Amino acid sequence: MTISFAQRLDHVETSAIRELFKLLGKPGIISFAGGFPDSALFDVAGIRAAVNAALDAEPGAALQYGATEGYGPLREQLAAFMATKGARDVAPEQLIVTTGSQQALDLIGKTLISPGDKVIVEGPTFLATIQCFRLYGAELISAPIDRDGVQTDALERLIEQHRPKFVYLIPTFGNPSGATLSAERRRAVLEMAVRHDTLIVEDDPYGELYFDAPPPPSLLALSAEVPGSRERLVHCGSLSKVLSPGLRVGWMIAPPELLAKATMCKQFSDAHTSTFAQATAAHYLASGAMPQTLARVRQVYAERAHAMTEALQLELGAALAFVPPRGGLFVWARLTGAGGALADGDEFARRAIERGVAFVPGAPFYASQPDRATLRLSFATVGVDRIVEGVQRLRLALLG
Ligand code: PMP
Repeated sequence: MTISFAQRLDHVETSAIRELFKLLGKPGIISFAGGFPDSALFDVAGIRAAVNAALDAEPGAALQYGATEGYGPLREQLAAFMATKGARDVAPEQLIVTTGSQQALDLIGKTLISPGDKVIVEGPTFLATIQCFRLYGAELISAPIDRDGVQTDALERLIEQHRPKFVYLIPTFGNPSGATLSAERRRAVLEMAVRHDTLIVEDDPYGELYFDAPPPPSLLALSAEVPGSRERLVHCGSLSKVLSPGLRVGWMIAPPELLAKATMCKQFSDAHTSTFAQATAAHYLASGAMPQTLARVRQVYAERAHAMTEALQLELGAALAFVPPRGGLFVWARLTGAGGALADGDEFARRAIERGVAFVPGAPFYASQPDRATLRLSFATVGVDRIVEGVQRLRLALLG
């Protein structure tokens, strides 16, 4: 039979990136294409101990249905974790546990977006957010970014012009941009939220993955200093990039009214995030292992990021422009076309695959007006030697 799908699916299509991923099975390929953390860095022993502790201490709770808002001890641990990240005044009742931060984004879409509503995102932004918000019928408007994150003057003009339902930002080590919003601009965003009575969504899965120095405080932490901004702020966090994405533990901090609606929608969706995963995460955080885990992953990603940016400068020189990231998993780059070299990300990706190296072209990360010369390279899962070799292959693909 011909299945008649819901109209909302008319707005979304499978991404070009998925098509590219099909080619990654080629033997010997070096992949800078993924967005995953390195599974070799997972603290398996620590997580095993947390699983055992959860089953020993409260087998009933860990294996039973649970509250939609989340498992109490985990909400407490997450509030304490947020305090270590500078947001000292978040009470456990002000956050709900979500099935990855991806679910928080879905709940935000579900509770706030009616078909035709306008939402401002960064250009470029996280692809799954674009798809998710489009599924709810949002009209997405891209705000330009530079090395210091979203350009706040342009953002304010767009807010005035479009009166969006909300603004979605990844202020710290963005995916795919790698960019970090400066401290001045963070304050400007919060002041703007108050001035224009606009809701801001801060998506922050990467903030802990800094290399040399911590990033400026999150919008959530800073909101304590900007009167009226907290009630206009939603913050999404995740253990995926720092501990394990397979646990599917994320969280959402939002004004009470919104949190209540999101909880109601979550109830109809998955009832609650896996209690087993939540109890495991709670015991892991309570064990005190997190600071050491963070120190380890930061160091490894810093080494890889450094190896990649150094190799790119050496091998591709003026043909590729990029800002070395200060954290996160990605280098966002732009083909300059210098010396008549190729300046199309899609074509470069195709040639690169032939040379045995993969990355993701940048165009799909734009909700509108794509810059086709851009690309995203992830250094997260590739060892330093293979990074250097992969970049040499990129040179061959681009410059021959
Ligand atoms: N937001 C951003 C910016 C991301 O890059 C990701 C994962 N790639 C997510 C949200 C979702 O992560 P998770 O659902 O695993 O927490």
